[in-house]
Order: sequence, then C-alpha cells, then structure tokens
Amino acid sequence: MNKDIAKILDALSSEYGGGAYPGRSSEGLNPEWECDPFHVLIATILSQRTRDDNTRKASDSLFRKYGTMEAIAAADADDVAILIRPAGFPTQKARAIVECCRILIGEHGGTVPSETEDLLLLPMVGRKTAACVRSYAMGIPSVCVDTHVHRISNLMGLVHTKDPEATEFELMRIAPQDRWSDINRYIVRHGQEVCLPRRPRCEKCVVRGMCDSCPPGL
Ligand code: SF4
Repeated sequence: MNKDIAKILDALSSEYGGGAYPGRSSEGLNPEWECDPFHVLIATILSQRTRDDNTRKASDSLFRKYGTMEAIAAADADDVAILIRPAGFPTQKARAIVECCRILIGEHGGTVPSETEDLLLLPMVGRKTAACVRSYAMGIPSVCVDTHVHRISNLMGLVHTKDPEATEFELMRIAPQDRWSDINRYIVRHGQEVCLPRRPRCEKCVVRGMCDSCPPGL
C-alpha cells in the first residue's frame, strides 16, 4: 500500500522550516545568488561528493573572485581549481565549471536552460543537479534525489528501489506534483539532523509512526 507522502512532508516541513539548499553563502555574499539559476548550477556542481560546509567555502571563494558567468568562462581552470579546493575533486570540477560557462554563453545566450534534456548535456550535470537547479532556482516542480533522499525514502518504505534514478521516477509517481520540490528540501535536512546515515535518531523522529524502519516500541 502506498504511504501518504504528503503527510510525511507536512510533518517534516513543520520540523525543518526553510529546508536545504547546499550553495547558501556562509558570508552572505549576495543573497540573490541563492535563487539565481547560474549560481545555483555552479554551487550544485561544487556540492557533488562533499559536505554542505565545504560547498559553501568553495562557492564563496569562487564567486568572490569570479562573480559572473562571463568571468568564469574567461578564467584559467587551474586558478578556479585553487579557489574551489575545499569542495574536493578541484581539477575535475574546475574544468567542468569553466566549460559549463563557455557552453552556456556559446549555446544558450548566457542563460541556464530549463529543460532537463538541455541541462544533462552540460559537464558534471546529472539528473540530481538538473532537478536541483530546476527546483531551487526556477521554481519548476522536480524531484531532486541525492544520497539522503534515496536512502531515507527506502528506509521509510516510500519506495523500494536500487538506485537514485529509480527513486526519482517512483517518487514522481507517488507524490503530488506540487510537492515534488519539497522532497529534497525536507528529506535532506532530515538526513543531516535526525535520520543520520550510520545512527538514525529514531526516538527524535517526527515521522517514526509512518516509517517501516522504526524500531518496535518507539
Ligand atoms: S524512524 Fe528512524 S529510520 Fe525512520 S525516518 Fe525516522 S530516523 Fe529514519
């Protein structure tokens, strides 16, 4: 039987308020960048395989020196790599980010495309990054599945899937479209604060009554 995912999201949203967005500046560099497609795209590439605090350090450092798409497109990838080192994989990410900016300028008139198919053609942009940009920066309902969303959706019994892509399609099937963007926003926060990967704090969990993995008696 399908669980009531809307009820789960309601409970999580009342617990976590603002939700998660990995590229938020820790220095308050420019609050508008947090919902600007270009800055969200670059911050989401930086966020791959690292923690949010590392993403913030790297994106602050990059955008402090190169604040625009044109500036990054003209930058030396080795210099970008030094700036983004805190996010890990600096050489790979720097090359992808510079190339991304060149493609956006050369093929999209200096804008970030909104179609998933177009986003997927950019370097280091997979389904998770594309959905994150559409959802957080463009307000287009999208299910952005990272490791937290994949892990916790399976723990709860919302889905029974083997990989993030299958989780994305299953969540799109069972969740109302107007809640798709809430899935990442609240489940990521839950994975960072309560449903921790190695030691879930089920006794503090607001959705434990709806979770298949909650120990008996809680
Ligand atoms: S009850 Fe435990 S396993 Fe289930 S979502 Fe909550 S913290 Fe995670």
